[in-house]
Amino acid sequence: MMIRENLESVRERLKTACTEAGRNPEEVTLIAVSKTKPLWMLEEAYEAGVRDFGENKVQELVEKAEKMPSDIRWHMIGHLQRNKVKTVIDKAYLIHSVDSLRLAEEISKEAQKRGLVMKILIEVNVAGEESKFGVAPDGAEELIRSIADLPGVLICGLMTIAPFVENPEENRVFFKSLKNLSVDIKGKNIDNVTMDFLSMGMTGDYEVAAQEGAACVRVGTGIFGERSYPISDLSV
Ligand SMILES: *Cc1c(COP(=O)(O)O)cnc(C)c1O
Repeated sequence: MMIRENLESVRERLKTACTEAGRNPEEVTLIAVSKTKPLWMLEEAYEAGVRDFGENKVQELVEKAEKMPSDIRWHMIGHLQRNKVKTVIDKAYLIHSVDSLRLAEEISKEAQKRGLVMKILIEVNVAGEESKFGVAPDGAEELIRSIADLPGVLICGLMTIAPFVENPEENRVFFKSLKNLSVDIKGKNIDNVTMDFLSMGMTGDYEVAAQEGAACVRVGTGIFGERSYPISDLSV
């Protein structure tokens, strides 16, 4: 019951934020980040209309995908190790967290084995935080150019995890800079690369992210409640 209400409130706030910014709310996909949460909670969200779920661990994503309806789009949002690529490749709809050529090469190899094209986002560390994964903004274009040549991989856009802040307005500058970076790179017309999809915004700042051009926001706590491990484990 609570999940349905939380969802309603997040959807409402998202809609208001989009409208304020002159955006069509339907352009922003709400990804329900269900990591560490039990299946019954995902089922409740599914019944309330959620079809996009985000997980940050391969094993958990795969186990949940096997038990949940097949029309769900599973988003791999956490740091991905190369040896786990083969496990997740045919389960994930989109991998949000690619930040190295070596990882992209592994994805390319496994995608080709299965005859599929894996959609990926490039994770960018826009705030330059040492604790975060992601390529530095000034290295993004070079990385994208090298990945773009790989078969079986389609770069659809960029992703970022903004800093934890008290006031979400503090992150507006980072969402703007991810957007600007995507516009710059789009302008280079690199083959095999579209920059239309920005993954940014979490429970604390999704409204600001939506106003600044997010194509999807990743909301966990705001839908499912607090997780029982510390915030420092976020990208592990
Ligand atoms: C956990 C996680 C989220 C969701 O965080 P909340 O603050 O609970 O909304 C979003 N993105 C990534 C990459 C995460 O790991």
